[in-house]
Amino acid sequence: MAPGLTMETILFLTHTEPDGSLSKAAREALGAAVALSRELPGASLAVGLVAPDGAPDNAQAAADSIGTCGAARFLVVTGSDFATARYATDAAAAEALALAAGATLVLAPGVSRWARCLSGVAQRMHGRADSHATAVTVEAGAPTVTRWYYRQRIEGASQRDQRPWFILLEPGSREPWQGPPAPAALECVTAAVDQRLRRTVFAGWRTPRTDRQTIRPEADLLLVAGAGWTKEQADGQTHPADAERLILDFLQLAQASLGGSKSLVDLSGEGQAVLPFMTHLNQIGQTGSTPRHPKGLATCCHGEEPHVVGWRFINERRAINLDPNCGWARGKADVLYVADAFAVMEQLNRLLAAKPPIEAA
Ligand SMILES: Cc1cc2nc3c(=O)[nH]c(=O)nc-3n(C[C@H](O)[C@H](O)[C@H](O)COP(=O)(O)OP(=O)(O)OC[C@H]3O[C@@H](n4cnc5c(N)ncnc54)[C@H](O)[C@@H]3O)c2cc1C
Repeated sequence: MAPGLTMETILFLTHTEPDGSLSKAAREALGAAVALSRELPGASLAVGLVAPDGAPDNAQAAADSIGTCGAARFLVVTGSDFATARYATDAAAAEALALAAGATLVLAPGVSRWARCLSGVAQRMHGRADSHATAVTVEAGAPTVTRWYYRQRIEGASQRDQRPWFILLEPGSREPWQGPPAPAALECVTAAVDQRLRRTVFAGWRTPRTDRQTIRPEADLLLVAGAGWTKEQADGQTHPADAERLILDFLQLAQASLGGSKSLVDLSGEGQAVLPFMTHLNQIGQTGSTPRHPKGLATCCHGEEPHVVGWRFINERRAINLDPNCGWARGKADVLYVADAFAVMEQLNRLLAAKPPIEAA
């Protein structure tokens, strides 16, 4: 069927949090689904929740919290099999919900749980899946997915004829849906789960100690450290202990997230005595991540293109570099401070310490 001629049935698909709430990423996907249902003539909206058993009723709490989103149906798959992520059972739940809704479009948050299984669900339902969507709009009467290619250098928009079309919306791409709660009438859907689907067993969580946590996706500010922190300074010496103290103090005081340039994280990986809290997970750029924070501050980092391409979705960029000819000075930062980052961060931390503390995100 040609795009634009389908009367779309949109399913907003997500899992609930253990406390019966919906994550910010889920509410963002809901916002996209609601907007789409309003813009596509004749479209209808359904909510599909995957929830554990629980009292007070987890699924009911989640559905009520979005009760005024305009959905015609609130479908739910519940059970202890769905308390934690597992490909086989999540895929079974998604398929059952998509079938029950008669969904032609399925919008889900692009979090690991759904990114893992929805392409498989699309395959078994003879549909299609697109991940890393940054927007879902209506162009020429048809749903259109926008995403970035070649490490955020090229933006593309695409439409598909095939249905059902599963779309994973990248977290941080739009405002989360907001609205008053209202009682929602739940319809229970059964997902066929047998022992074959339970072969993978959830063993437990392993998380870094909270004082070691440096990646905070919800933080207002991203601090990026470059290899300059490990280089010889004006006195002919390196100062890794000062660098560590200044960076960790700043993260704590500003509740900022920490990124690193490739050069710096590679140094850590090669076992040199540098910044022990810096791992490849912190790397920003072409071969690293593309975080989304309102603001970013690069320190002791040159601002080369393969690094800066990871700053695509940082709204306001500032940098501190001793070199007035660094990459940031060539139009890649809104503000460049030509200064010694050791001195600037020392002063910044002093000012932050004098302010009332920022609440942990
Ligand atoms: C295919 C490919 C993919 C790549 N992918 C990535 C990627 O994903 N991410 C990434 O980061 N890089 C990537 N790179 C590498 C990238 O090109 C750069 O080599 C790297 O980003 C440089 O890191 P840096 O700026 O920390 O170090 P340097 O280039 O060594 O810069 C250090 C900077 O610190 C400054 N400095 C030193 N002391 C001070 C001080 N006291 N105060 C202020 N400034 C100071 C210096 O002036 C200098 O500008 C990639 C390269 C290739 C070829």
